[in-house]
Amino acid sequence: MTGWITVAGLGPGDDALVTPQVVQALDQATDVIGYIPYVARVAARPGLALHPSDNRVELDRARMALDLAADGRRVVIVSSGDPGVFAMASALFEALEDQPDRHDTDIRILPGITAMLAAAARAGAPLGHDFCAINLSDNLKPFDLIEHRLRHAARGDFAMAFYNPRSRSRPHQFARVLEILRQECPPETLIIFARAVSTPDECLTTIPLSQATPQMADMRTVVLVGNSATRRVGKWVYTPRGAV
Ligand code: SAH
Repeated sequence: MTGWITVAGLGPGDDALVTPQVVQALDQATDVIGYIPYVARVAARPGLALHPSDNRVELDRARMALDLAADGRRVVIVSSGDPGVFAMASALFEALEDQPDRHDTDIRILPGITAMLAAAARAGAPLGHDFCAINLSDNLKPFDLIEHRLRHAARGDFAMAFYNPRSRSRPHQFARVLEILRQECPPETLIIFARAVSTPDECLTTIPLSQATPQMADMRTVVLVGNSATRRVGKWVYTPRGAV
């Protein structure tokens, strides 16, 4: 028996946005590992062991996957969106780095539709020119670094996508993020708050930076910030492909 590990992205929520490759991997799996709400999206069936776990135990999950694969199990680690975007793929390689005897484990990373792209598609094409993605969570990096990157991205006139914009454990930081944006960007800069995209709770709000408030974001929101050329056309928001 040869075991394997697949790290799969389940997309932003709608089952129609799960790729056929991911569906196939889940069909072949003996074990599914992941954060509780993501594992809940996988249908139970005989012969499939589900291993839901709480958030913030990414490395434990990755080590468990390596142990199971070494026992010949076929393991799928699920992430929402894309597994390489602020998610489990890197955690798996971090765990692998510490286990040289397992470096030849059969590993595949299957991409998924990440939140910023699902949100951008709903809004129009706000990420149609150069853009960057910033994780606003300070779980794994100091908030100073977040501020530094944010300021430089704004000065570079990048459109931006913010993941993990706000949580109960750090309610004030997103206010600081808006303050920095107001220092660096014109007040008419468009911001899109895209919540629970592709789920029944989906809600998109587009407003100028001057009217944005911290309460408009929560942990189910990805925030898109336009560049200086981003504008409305009819009900859409788009960023032209050139500089103006
Ligand atoms: N790997 C995921 C991101 C994990 S970080 C991906 O590629 O999408 C979790 C953050 O992703 C959330 O705080 C939120 O900012 C964003 N997110 C995930 N799903 C979302 C959705 N359906 N709608 C809006 N934002 C979402």
